[in-house]
Amino acid sequence: MSSLHYWNYPTEIFCGADALALLAERCTLLGMRNPLLVTDPGMLALEPMTLLQAHLQQGAIPFAVFSDIAGNPSLEDVARGVAAFKAGKHDSLIALGGGSAMDAAKGISLTAVASDGLQRFEWSQIIEHYPSLADFPHLGLPKLIALPTTAGTGSELGREAVLTDSAQQIKRVISHPELLPATVILDPVLTRGLPAGLTAATGMDALTHHIEAFCSPLYHPMSSGIAVEGIRLIQQHLADAHRDGQNIVAREGMLVASAMAAVAFQKGLGGVHALAHPLGARYHKHHGLLNAILLPYVLVANQAAISQDIARLARYLELPRPDFTGFLDWLLGMREQLGIPHSLGEIGLDAQEAAWVGEQAVADISSSDTNACVLDAAAYSQIFRNAVGGVLAQVQP
Ligand SMILES: [Zn+2]
Repeated sequence: MSSLHYWNYPTEIFCGADALALLAERCTLLGMRNPLLVTDPGMLALEPMTLLQAHLQQGAIPFAVFSDIAGNPSLEDVARGVAAFKAGKHDSLIALGGGSAMDAAKGISLTAVASDGLQRFEWSQIIEHYPSLADFPHLGLPKLIALPTTAGTGSELGREAVLTDSAQQIKRVISHPELLPATVILDPVLTRGLPAGLTAATGMDALTHHIEAFCSPLYHPMSSGIAVEGIRLIQQHLADAHRDGQNIVAREGMLVASAMAAVAFQKGLGGVHALAHPLGARYHKHHGLLNAILLPYVLVANQAAISQDIARLARYLELPRPDFTGFLDWLLGMREQLGIPHSLGEIGLDAQEAAWVGEQAVADISSSDTNACVLDAAAYSQIFRNAVGGVLAQVQP
């Protein structure tokens, strides 16, 4: 996997070691004359930022940097980004980083053009006012080039952004087809410096995207197919990327699997994300780590609805025991190998807010609507309590 690949599904993708070298040329071809580079503050002194700035300078592309964003970007971060975008008379965006940078850049893009965009295209509003995706109005959003430095969110291939509403302590999901970046550069060299713990957490986020999409009841066979192969890539590469961060083949495999996951979850997510979103907003824990811990508890709660599909998946993965139990064993084994805690209690959460968590999970319709089976607030509360205590058990319907 050392050569350069060009794909245009669902957008233009360049994939391979040192694909970053194409950045300035792509900016010119896309008519990006003065991009705002959005990244998180932790990236400023790191190698990917140095490389990227050098390529833009060599290509004579003028740009400014905006990095005033939190680990989970907030509506306030987006507002500051829009002010920077307008003050610098920028015409386009480059996002470098993990999901935070991608989501912040998308929020800035939408709000710079439509001041009420975060409200109009928030998921609950879309469901209410736009029953058909064809009803999304053309906005002419600024062109965006995305360069992920983690392999997890897949936000570079998504049309959504997750933003924290600090006042409400919830996460808001915005969606518009034009939020899909014009060009995505998947360069595994940019992910080499990711520490082992983050490699595990972000990789498990990607795995959760694939599994939840695969188990979603929506009809979308293309996404189902992508999910199955994405899970196989993670089976092949995640442990290697975790063990040796310099392994470029494993890094590239995880970057591709993560990007594929965002295409797969056009089919929907599920109960893991419905729980992880409010927990992330309330307790400020890493999204991927929350998903990694929650995943087996939600799978067990969904077991009756998904066991046949999971058995088919287990056969494709050539697991020694190709059924639901065998798949769960594989998942728990991999989680342990990656050093992921088994319970939410181990990362400091307790069950005091279980009722609130259950209500918020049901209310997160961007995820809960496509869970494999219908779970009410009481069921989500029970799953949360199970995950806090480390008890893998069915919940009462
Ligand atoms: Zn996720």
